Amino acid sequence: MIELHGQGVSRGIALGPIRRYERQQPAVEPVPIADIEGELARLEAAREKASAQLETLYQDTLGSLGEANALLFQIHQMMLEDPDFCDSMEQHIRDESVCAPYAVQEAGQEAAAAFAAMDDAYMQARSADVLDVSARLIRILTGRDEETLDFASPAILAADDLAPSETARLDRSKVLAFVTAGGSSNSHTAIFARTMGIPAVVGLGEALEQLTAGCEAAVDGSTGEVILEPDADTHALFLDRQDALRNEDALAEAYRGKASRTKDGHSIELCANVGGPGDVDAALEGDAEGIGLFRSEFLYLQRSDYPDEETQFAAYKDVLQRMGGKRVVIRTLDIGADKQADYFQLPHEENPAMGLRAIRICLTRPEVFRTQLRALYRASVYGKLAIMFPMITHPREVRQIKTIAAQVRDELTAEGIPFSPDVELGIMIETPAAALLSRELAREVDFFSVGTNDLTQYTLALDRQNSAVAQFDDPDHTAVLSLIHMAAQNAHAEGIWIGICGELGGDPSLTETFLRMGIDELSMSPASILRIRAKVCVIEAL
Ligand code: PEP
Ligand code: MG
Repeated sequence: MIELHGQGVSRGIALGPIRRYERQQPAVEPVPIADIEGELARLEAAREKASAQLETLYQDTLGSLGEANALLFQIHQMMLEDPDFCDSMEQHIRDESVCAPYAVQEAGQEAAAAFAAMDDAYMQARSADVLDVSARLIRILTGRDEETLDFASPAILAADDLAPSETARLDRSKVLAFVTAGGSSNSHTAIFARTMGIPAVVGLGEALEQLTAGCEAAVDGSTGEVILEPDADTHALFLDRQDALRNEDALAEAYRGKASRTKDGHSIELCANVGGPGDVDAALEGDAEGIGLFRSEFLYLQRSDYPDEETQFAAYKDVLQRMGGKRVVIRTLDIGADKQADYFQLPHEENPAMGLRAIRICLTRPEVFRTQLRALYRASVYGKLAIMFPMITHPREVRQIKTIAAQVRDELTAEGIPFSPDVELGIMIETPAAALLSRELAREVDFFSVGTNDLTQYTLALDRQNSAVAQFDDPDHTAVLSLIHMAAQNAHAEGIWIGICGELGGDPSLTETFLRMGIDELSMSPASILRIRAKVCVIEAL
């Protein structure tokens, strides 16, 4: 028996034989060509064919896995059309007089290296996407078919890494789990695995080499354990864990459509955290009562320039319409620290988590802030919108924000553009200062939402990006819980509601504690909602 550890990124237990998947993409040699224009035309034809294939993949995935996952293939289509990528392929052909497949290979590797070198984990994960797109082009140019991923019988799939298009082609009934050497919880392999409900462990590194085809393995997608040739006791232990999870899911499913209420009648709203319009289907599928946190940064991160008002308006309108009157809390941009977009040209900082981020950027670049607020207010007539501001430390900032918001409303009125008069304005409680000043802050706004990820980071002086200090993290830390309790009391004393949208909101071990504090709303990953509702509904009395 050999025990390996990776990062568990998709909950679930699997027991079964290993199947290895080696991507057969031999390196392409630089074959010299004489007819440069002919080679460019060949590349153009291949791009068109790749685009058509991606459109089919988009439509198929839309039907089977929903918009959140299908969206990826639109991103691949955009990469195919990206002017820098196209120029780079063309330049290799023109400058080096080499064949198109070689030019694609080189341009793809250069673009992938550029993504991999970025600070933001989301952008780093896009490196696999650009390699996937160039592999597709090379296959078309060299006349090779896609390697089949058909399994004769169910197995645990072990691969160096899985490209998103490979993951989407897998037969769910045959793949017991994914185990990969590379990847991160932000990679699309992980995102697809969670949506497909397939257990997954990523980041095993070189240890993956020990997984030979045919050997038996046990995988726990929560703990990240991968056990090779498990002995009888381990096998039984994993079967017990599997039973426990299945029971938990079956019990939770019974709460679909039910009210989130304790037996003695205390209600709480259970909402979803989403990263963009693509996640709205998952929120509805998870039976969310609303969206408690829409991280609007996605609109800013995947681009080379600021998104304009129309782009933002379309995204917000889409989400509000699809949530059909349920409340959608959209957080204004939270760029900075771990979320960087080059075009913001933020200065290098010694302590970026305590630097120019979130509302501090909005208040120092009011034109960026105004564009977002205009788009939000314009979208407000399409549903029930609440706007939330991150990283607040002082009531003065809130007053400044409210002045800008009032100016934006006046501008829209003067232009005859309609907006809802009922848009709630709220703030995140994610700094100790905000919790300590919550009584005064509560007089300024309509609601609070506690960002426990940052509140924990700033209260415990524990960098959330630094895995070396993860062992000092403590979700039950009295200091953090006391600050949340204080904010809840102050919110209610001033007659406003308070939610929790950090990761602790979906932690079942704290659900009862939060109910006792009087928290009005919990927002979490869509897949956690039914399990937390099950937890709420069995509480006898508070
Ligand atoms: C938080 O800090 O808890 C939060 C929800 O915001 P983010 O994780 O996006 O910083
Ligand atoms: Mg935060």
